[in-house]
Amino acid sequence: MMSVKEYALDVNKTVEEILNKCQELGLDVRMPDDMLDEEMIIELDNATFDIEEENFEEIDTEPIKKVEPIKSKKKIDTSKKDLARRKKQMYKNKEKLISNTPINDDKIVLYKENMTVAQLAKALNVNGSELVKKLFSLGIMATLNNTIDFENAEILVLDYNKTLKREETADVTNFEAFEVVDNPEDLTSRPPVVTIMGHVDHGKTTLLDTIRKANVVETEAGGITQAISAYQVKHNDKLITFIDTPGHAAFTEMRSRGAKITDIIIIIVAADDGVMPQTKEAIDHALAAKVPIIVAINKMDKPGANPERVMTELSECGLMPEEWGGDVLYNKISALNGDGIDELLENILLVAEMNEYKANPNRYAMGSVIESRLDKHVGPIVTLLVQNGTLRLGDPIVVGDTFGKIRTLKNDKNEEITKALPSQPVEVTGLNDTPIAGDKFMSFATEKEARSISEQRKKAKALNKTSKTPVTLDELFSKIGDGFKEINVLIKADVHGSSEAVKNSLEKIEVEGVRVNVIRSSVGAITESDIVLAKASNAIIIGFNVRPNNMIKDSAKEAGVEIRFYNIIYKAVEDIQAAMKGLLDPVYEEKVIGNATVKQLFKFSKVGTIAGSMVNEGVIKRGAQARIIRDDVVIYDGIIGSVQREKDAVKEVKKGLECGITIEGYNDIKVDDVIETYEMVEINE
Ligand code: GDP
Repeated sequence: MMSVKEYALDVNKTVEEILNKCQELGLDVRMPDDMLDEEMIIELDNATFDIEEENFEEIDTEPIKKVEPIKSKKKIDTSKKDLARRKKQMYKNKEKLISNTPINDDKIVLYKENMTVAQLAKALNVNGSELVKKLFSLGIMATLNNTIDFENAEILVLDYNKTLKREETADVTNFEAFEVVDNPEDLTSRPPVVTIMGHVDHGKTTLLDTIRKANVVETEAGGITQAISAYQVKHNDKLITFIDTPGHAAFTEMRSRGAKITDIIIIIVAADDGVMPQTKEAIDHALAAKVPIIVAINKMDKPGANPERVMTELSECGLMPEEWGGDVLYNKISALNGDGIDELLENILLVAEMNEYKANPNRYAMGSVIESRLDKHVGPIVTLLVQNGTLRLGDPIVVGDTFGKIRTLKNDKNEEITKALPSQPVEVTGLNDTPIAGDKFMSFATEKEARSISEQRKKAKALNKTSKTPVTLDELFSKIGDGFKEINVLIKADVHGSSEAVKNSLEKIEVEGVRVNVIRSSVGAITESDIVLAKASNAIIIGFNVRPNNMIKDSAKEAGVEIRFYNIIYKAVEDIQAAMKGLLDPVYEEKVIGNATVKQLFKFSKVGTIAGSMVNEGVIKRGAQARIIRDDVVIYDGIIGSVQREKDAVKEVKKGLECGITIEGYNDIKVDDVIETYEMVEINE
């Protein structure tokens, strides 16, 4: 803060000149002793700076000084170097503004709530006085510090041939839930991201290696460094990203945390072995992820190869080959000698073309963690897949529970790069902690912002820990209300016949346009893999004539997955139907609230037997449910009729106190009986 007088002195100008300038700029300052705040000073500085820049240009082009430039303190500072610095700063500020917003377009100006004329001028990169004048011509008297509404700002911005857009005010703290909506015109196509899944030993690793070697080697002098678990290859001048996920369960686990990393899944099946349990599992996971599937029948070079059999088996799993009238592309390949790989890549590009995968490279980067490890020397080394936007060296980012600044950025060939585009996998360092595969990341304009978002996320997470939002049958109805059109169900049954029967019956249910989608139906005990799949797919598990062991019960509880058990099909159908209509009866569980031991009996003809008791645990409440236990056997189950302290009837008596208890309709109490009271509570698993 300084007065007009002081400022004039400072910049070697008369007070009158400064007051005139203030008026020109629309600043609310009239007298020499009026104070100028920081924003005003910047405005005045900029105005002076503009004059000087013009002078500077003149001097630069005309080495012979015709006019002695106006002497001022500011001007002395404005050396050629200083100008370059300030210009650079202006450019940097502009970049920052843009990178912090979803739109990176010079033609777009962002409108923030309660924006002032000065702020708009800054966003437009023009003088505030200019805007004040323009507003005046529109009949609006305004100073730089006045706020401007969207409509008027829009007119001003149009005058500069730009468009005004409201700034997105979405809460980016929980960016996993942050749905990015880009303007269609900002989108450009991005390479498809592909993962390969199949039964062990069917050739996933060999296929990944063969594709990489065949398509990377010619561009690299020093051969291939298996740097990261994801890579890009070029086929017919188009990029394809391949990601190696450690297994189906890991893939689905990542998906359960919101990481939709893959666009296309290749199901690999060895032609000499056929469909195996993990092939089926892979298909379940792929179908649940709702991404296009391409089949690769591998090991065609082997004498025992029988592709027809594989095709028949896969058709039975719902993957009907295109040549048989279905819509799944099949490729016969040999991952070992490279046969059929080109066709496979072409098919990937075909599916990509049909699905038009797009992203906006001109926004802050978002994506997922593919892999991460801790290096003794450099700290966490993390493989990220950029899924939208551009990730740059030096970007502050928040990843899962941690944050940091991209210190090094390497591509899949272990080369240092400065930016990574959508669908590009990169290896980064600079994070403060090691995130886990499937964690999402987002980059921010400043490290301060990244730190603050990260802290807010930590707080929110701590709060959420106790209030998990599991999927329960009970909640289905509310989900339907939220626009759910399918109820995902996973069925495990004792025998094949019953799993099929349950599946068929459930699939027939349709309530108000909502139907049941069976994502897996198989025989056997409920396993960890079932829970992982159910969690990722928001599904409930139906156990038919099967019981889980305690470990499975615990992990289902931990994952927030509901398991329901039935031994009669129509009961399962009834429950699901009821849930879909929102009529499901709540599930109750007994909760013991107290117990008392009978010490002495008082018999009255009117009220019956009063049991003089000592409360051992909890409370004994009037009206609560109670059971009488004699020698560890329950002999009566009823309701507490009354509770008395001394001679007064009370509502309840707590632990350590003596009281008189009557049980409704039961007088046959004996000394040393234990009265245990309990409540039925609705359980929210
Ligand atoms: P993964 O477990 O699915 O990753 O399978 P691998 O890629 O490790 O392959 C398992 C075995 O099958 C290895 O010994 C490979 O050499 C072999 N293999 C993979 N693809 C082919 C193929 O196309 N032809 C033949 N003959 N062997 C293959």
